[in-house]
Amino acid sequence: MKEKNSPRVEKAIEIAKQAHEGQFRKTGEPYIVHPLAVKKILEEWHMDEDTIIAGILHDTVEDTDLTLEDIRKEFGDSVSFLVNGVTKISTARTGMRDIDSYLPETKDNFLRLLIALGDDIRVLIIKLADRLHNLRTLSALPPDKQRKIAKESLEVFAPLADRLNMGRLRVEMADIAFKYVDPKRYDYLKELIEKHNESAEKSLKKIEKEVSDALRKEKIDFELAGRVKSVYSLHRKLAKHNQNMGEIYDLTALRVIVDDITDCYLTLGIIHSLYTPMGGRIKDYIAVPKQNGYQSLHTTVITKDKKIVEFQIRTKEMHEFAEHGLAASFYYNEQKVTENYKKGKIEHLPTNLLWITELQMTAAKLREGKKVDLRKLKINLFADKIFVYTPKGDIIDLPKGALPLDFAYRLHSEIGDHVIGVKINGKMSNLNRKLEQGDIVEILTSKNQVPNSSWLSKILTSHARQKLTRALNAANREPAEKPKKSSRKKQKRS
Ligand code: MN
Repeated sequence: MKEKNSPRVEKAIEIAKQAHEGQFRKTGEPYIVHPLAVKKILEEWHMDEDTIIAGILHDTVEDTDLTLEDIRKEFGDSVSFLVNGVTKISTARTGMRDIDSYLPETKDNFLRLLIALGDDIRVLIIKLADRLHNLRTLSALPPDKQRKIAKESLEVFAPLADRLNMGRLRVEMADIAFKYVDPKRYDYLKELIEKHNESAEKSLKKIEKEVSDALRKEKIDFELAGRVKSVYSLHRKLAKHNQNMGEIYDLTALRVIVDDITDCYLTLGIIHSLYTPMGGRIKDYIAVPKQNGYQSLHTTVITKDKKIVEFQIRTKEMHEFAEHGLAASFYYNEQKVTENYKKGKIEHLPTNLLWITELQMTAAKLREGKKVDLRKLKINLFADKIFVYTPKGDIIDLPKGALPLDFAYRLHSEIGDHVIGVKINGKMSNLNRKLEQGDIVEILTSKNQVPNSSWLSKILTSHARQKLTRALNAANREPAEKPKKSSRKKQKRS
């Protein structure tokens, strides 16, 4: 992995060292430690040399005497463009000052951030590497800053990494951030996962051996490894499933990485010949990739000793893309000339990231002063989701169009069942009011309140509908307004 730095990279390190001389991080280390860590992350993502150099220099223009012109003279337009972009985001983040002048009114902070990124998505990749290292060293900051950065990472950066299909980054960011946002819950779930893994270890070994033997017999080249569920994703899943661990089927998962797509399907067949697949849990994300471009076959099986195990089956390229997403697509663009590509081993590049092009065209139009209706954008980056807050500042994500009762039932069915009112952003509101991105929602409850069948028209999510229907049935209400079957159908989100 460790390659020698090119002369340009060496030069950048030297310039950054000089520029940051005498500056220190909150950890007490010389400042240069940070840009060098960002450089290392970008190298792990296989980014190109200009991006790596811009990563080394990313804080110089804002924090030192070095100017963009100095950088342009030494390293060219591309590097100075990238450094400028990263500098602009950090100022844009604090109030979005420089984009407010041309950005139409929108509450969508994600969109604002993305438009602030400018024309080169590599800027975003440097920013993500920067944020990752800042999270890794978050313990050095005072608690209020820790919480602020952690919340923002959960709200903006981890979902962004997800949309770019940078799976490994998403997991690491979300888990570090979650630890600061809700330390007790984090520790509890982490221990739960560890205990589960310990108890599953023995049977997992056996399963690994059975699968390996079967695959070898069929002469399939493979790598087999366990995948550990991230704490934050378990937290999210439990929230969706009413904290019922019995409904979490992917705590134990094995990943099989094979050479090509044909082997993926062969492997799936072999696994199903060994174990019983659970109905409805076979997902073909190869034929129909996820929106962020993610590809894999998923299946959940029940083993002979009644263990539930999820298998994820994919090619090496799909794996690389699932881990590094957008960054990997840069890498594979460069790999197109390689032998593997010519042999057809690299299947195809993600087309699902076309929204980036659209975004960049929009940003350019806005800068030229042209009018753009943001609602008409097909970007749909987070269009299906809103993030709202509890009064304590916990972030709850809901589908767009969700209502206060959806929020209440998401918190807890005890809260949902006893709602008497809602305050949105400190003002009394009503249960018909659609929640909007960034709302602070306070649910008012009373012990004497009981669920009411008229509430069925005031919810969007199937989660809340389930809870409410259960409560209504339990209360043995009059059958006059029995919940209709058809209303159970998940409503289409815009
Ligand atoms: Mn930085």
